[in-house]
Amino acid sequence: MTTVVVCDLDGVLYLHDRPVPRARQALESLEAAGVRLVFATNNSTKTPERVVSDLHRRVGFRADPAMVATAAMATAAFVAPSAPRPYVLGADGLVVSLRREGIDAVATAAMADTVIVGLDPNLTYRRLADAVLAIGAGAAFVATGTDPTYPTPEGLYPGTGAIVAAVGVATGVDPVVCGKPHPPMIALVRRLVGDADVVWVVGDRPETDLAMARAAGWAGILVLTGVTADASEVPADLRPEVVVPSIAEVPAVVLGGGAADPASPPSPHR
Ligand SMILES: [Mg+2]
Repeated sequence: MTTVVVCDLDGVLYLHDRPVPRARQALESLEAAGVRLVFATNNSTKTPERVVSDLHRRVGFRADPAMVATAAMATAAFVAPSAPRPYVLGADGLVVSLRREGIDAVATAAMADTVIVGLDPNLTYRRLADAVLAIGAGAAFVATGTDPTYPTPEGLYPGTGAIVAAVGVATGVDPVVCGKPHPPMIALVRRLVGDADVVWVVGDRPETDLAMARAAGWAGILVLTGVTADASEVPADLRPEVVVPSIAEVPAVVLGGGAADPASPPSPHR
């Protein structure tokens, strides 16, 4: 029987560059038990190689870049057939993912057929304005995600969704969203999951991680180390199968033997 754990990163394995205690041991014991690990993140700023090196540096765990799914990759795969000339508000992870799909971002927004918005740490008002002008002139509007915040040890930074909202408010246009829990990301994660018998999704954000689990027919585990501090905040339609304090308790849930606090009896077999 093949079991896959689809693990979110920010707020689950680390907060910014600080590891969640015992994250490495948890991942190692899952792997040692034959569980396949897939890492799925709505962070569009990094390439899979960078995700793996950050994970190793922060948490001490060495993952396979081929088992990483980012919202940037999902977005690039989604726009590839239809957007040869995107204008990009985003970082390296997005630009490189597009290039791997054969697409070069245009430098001038006026030439764009699509505006793609991800988390852009170098965002300027000028580039925001150019994106808004391009959409106003008829370019399509695509977003890597709508996560409102980005958890750090300092507190919550503005997330991709905050930038997407700025463009959306100014244009009056709703974007097509590609990251968790939307179909392009589910398709990408599903390819990495393969023909697993049991799939668990571990995440800290109900509206992305748990919603993806729900939409894909996988079981959800909520950890309380990230943006959700209290399981009672979770809307009824996104309730996970299991709630645990942190990733440290996930092996006990996935490998059996309890030690968890099931929100309802776990039913990962789909
Ligand atoms: Mg997260």
